[in-house]
Amino acid sequence: MTLTTGERNVGRSALVTGGNRGIGLAIARRLAAGGDSVTVTSRSGEPVEGVSVVPCDVRDVASVEAAFASVEKDQGPVEVLVANAGITSDRMFAALKDEVFTDVVDTNLTGAYRVAKRAVRGMMRARQGRMIFISSVVGLYGWPGQANYAASKAGLVGLARSLARELGPLGITANVVAPGLVDTDMAAVLSQEREAAILGTVPLGRKADADEVAAVVAFLAGPDAAYLTGAVIPVDGGLGMGH
Ligand code: NDP
Repeated sequence: MTLTTGERNVGRSALVTGGNRGIGLAIARRLAAGGDSVTVTSRSGEPVEGVSVVPCDVRDVASVEAAFASVEKDQGPVEVLVANAGITSDRMFAALKDEVFTDVVDTNLTGAYRVAKRAVRGMMRARQGRMIFISSVVGLYGWPGQANYAASKAGLVGLARSLARELGPLGITANVVAPGLVDTDMAAVLSQEREAAILGTVPLGRKADADEVAAVVAFLAGPDAAYLTGAVIPVDGGLGMGH
């Protein structure tokens, strides 16, 4: 279904990776509320209220293939892909081990590549599609102890912008959302001191609610963003000052 400005998204097939909790779940609920058929992935595949769930580990290409096959059977080829699954494994650089670096990159960047690569098949056939990659303010800003995470999140920008150039002529858009600190399990691991130190650098002085990120993703997925591609949209309370 081709989207044009002003139309409602009725019944598109949307897939949100890592959508069983946190930002991904908020995105899934937003898209579903807008009328899309939405499936989320989780590693366990356990049920989540209000959305369909398919098991998927984005580090495993066979698991990605199986998840897409299941989504295609249930709701048709993926028309909206949100590559949201991500992890942190913070270490100061001197203590960072190779496997910790590669594990984070494998999940956050190569995992996004794997799902985009699989989604693009159907999108090219349909000559339309929306891809949204969830990066982080840290990808462009850097952060001590997050060299692995920042590298993976910066990589998403190059990935999305290359896809935007390559696939734009086929009616497929690729954009990046770069959140700041968001109130989810991922942020809950921070000590109170570290959280206060980060919030001290945020002009709006607070964490984001996951739904505030979801609102921007829903906009990028929706008809009013038909002419938007290759963009990096910060949702960071001003921390990165628009990068
Ligand atoms: P959560 O830790 O709450 O959720 C992470 C999600 O990613 C879970 O659904 C998890 O699935 C999934 N996931 C992790 N590893 C894999 C994997 N190998 N295969 C499939 N799914 C996986 O994090 P958030 O909701 O906070 O984060 C969502 C995204 O937003 C991430 O990419 C994160 O980097 C980014 N972000 C978050 C910020 C924050 O402050 N919270 C700030 C900036 C960006 P499971 O439940 O199965 O583990």
